[in-house]
Amino acid sequence: MLWSKSLIPTLKEIPQDAEIPSHQLMLRAGLIRRLGSGLYTYLPLGFRALRKVEAIVREEMDRAGAQEVLMPAMHPREIWDRSGRYESLKNVMFRVKDRQAREMVLGPTHEEIITDLVAREISSYKQLPCNFYQIQTKFRDEIRPRFGLMRCKEFIMKDAYSFDISSEAADSSYQKMYEAYVNIFRRCGLHAMPVEADTGDMGGSSSHEFMVPTDSGEDAILEADDGSYAANMERAEGYCDLPNVFPDADQPLEEIATPNAGKIEDVADLLKIEPRQLVKTLIFVADKSPVAVLLPGDRDVNEIKLRKVLDAQEVAPADPQTVREITGAEVGFAGPVGLKIPVIVDRTLEGLRGGVIGANKTDTHLLHFDLARDLDPDAFVDVAFPKAGDLAPNRKGHLSEKRGVEVGHVFKLGTKYSVALGANVLDENGKSIPAVMGCYGIGVSRTLQAVIEQSHDENGIIWPVNVAPYTVLITVLSPKHEESMSRATDLAAQLEAQGIDVLIDDREERPGFKFKDADLLGFPLRLTLGERGLAKGIMELKPRTEKSFEEVPVDQALDAVLAKVKTLREALK
Ligand code: ATP
Ligand code: MG
Repeated sequence: MLWSKSLIPTLKEIPQDAEIPSHQLMLRAGLIRRLGSGLYTYLPLGFRALRKVEAIVREEMDRAGAQEVLMPAMHPREIWDRSGRYESLKNVMFRVKDRQAREMVLGPTHEEIITDLVAREISSYKQLPCNFYQIQTKFRDEIRPRFGLMRCKEFIMKDAYSFDISSEAADSSYQKMYEAYVNIFRRCGLHAMPVEADTGDMGGSSSHEFMVPTDSGEDAILEADDGSYAANMERAEGYCDLPNVFPDADQPLEEIATPNAGKIEDVADLLKIEPRQLVKTLIFVADKSPVAVLLPGDRDVNEIKLRKVLDAQEVAPADPQTVREITGAEVGFAGPVGLKIPVIVDRTLEGLRGGVIGANKTDTHLLHFDLARDLDPDAFVDVAFPKAGDLAPNRKGHLSEKRGVEVGHVFKLGTKYSVALGANVLDENGKSIPAVMGCYGIGVSRTLQAVIEQSHDENGIIWPVNVAPYTVLITVLSPKHEESMSRATDLAAQLEAQGIDVLIDDREERPGFKFKDADLLGFPLRLTLGERGLAKGIMELKPRTEKSFEEVPVDQALDAVLAKVKTLREALK
């Protein structure tokens, strides 16, 4: 392909509205253009790269035994009513009406649709296991579309759904997808780490997210320094190994005036203690019943964990009026002693002596709190977000915090959707049972941008070979020089015959300008062809990752490029 015949609108300036490097580079390298908030056009180069990511995804899905289908992006409302998600997903769903005022949904995901299909088409254990996938546009009315392709209203997802006869069989389907994901991201040249994830509102029992570590990531991850554990913040567990015994531990409870100090930092400042020494007493309402939750002053409640611990449908912080009624004090002065509601204690407080608690009296706290002496806690539970420095669940490594972008998600769903949509099959004994499901998503368009976020330098993109829009760029320094152009086109044809795609920069521009664009676009290999070089019988070969070029004799250029491409590809095998 000739550059002069392609739409590659590179930009010299960093676009104002792009905050992270990968978004800036996608715009600057002319890969995408914005139509509106969270809506992008893929320009020719961006689309080529996207297609390469898709091809890798497709190959690995096929290899893992999944079958490709394509479901409608638009669905009748009724199918979403059957799972209850017309209501529960209302905040992300785009809803439209047809000319007869029938309500339709633009699919944010496809569990309902595939499960309905399986309910109709599959009836026996003999047809299982099965796994269907598609690569398709999804629609989500995100609160904050941003960072280019990272969070869009309309984006490309690969979604797969497995159906099995038993939960053991479903575990094995899950494992296969997990392995396929590891292969996909490796082949894309992307370091994506699997982390344990919460199963949230999807139903189901276990889940991993594939996270690309980057400071601009919207997700927090805790990882053990010995590599034995990684989980996203919502899910993570940690053990605090700091001592829980503070000075003056053995003294009786003592009131102390803390005027206007209803916040942890204010009390800590006033009493000259560490926030950790303070016990936070938070009043929550779980399915209409109040409950007090105790945790160290420097930690926050994870409401997902709390809901699970209490086995509640809904939990929310109590409103100030309820807090006043329960504690007899203003918000900020609640304490566990004397409360008439259930009190649960985060396990990080176990063994606490010499703590400071609210006195259930406005502007007052109590010193020298001894948890075992002053309270009769029935259970220590895990309801706090862990912190960097905590011990990992195996109590060996210590946790540190990273940020990441979720590029994929594998999920054991159980039978929530098969029950709701009647995807039952006859088992070996002729008994009708709901199929056990798994679902597996990859943000194909997000993955493309994540590759750039992870692989770039100050000059531009550094494409991993398998997803580069073109593998080789031939920069012709003087396109008017006939021999240069004919050599370039011959070489391109020979490379293309070997399955290597080539772009020829035949623009009438200064070499410096062309080299800058070459670095910005980041093709893995650049071959430079100049009049002077050709007179000496050489071309210059430069991998994007290296600073300097290598001179190769003209008659060996083809082999040199083939060898380099091979090495690059081998590294991602
Ligand atoms: P997030 O937490 O980032 O909103 P999610 O957990 O809601 O994502 P899933 O339902 O698990 O997303 O979707 C599967 C994959 O689709 C995600 O792992 C992610 O890569 C991608 N994805 C999700 N939402 C978007 C979006 N708005 N724009 C681009 N890609 C997305
Ligand atoms: Mg997810």
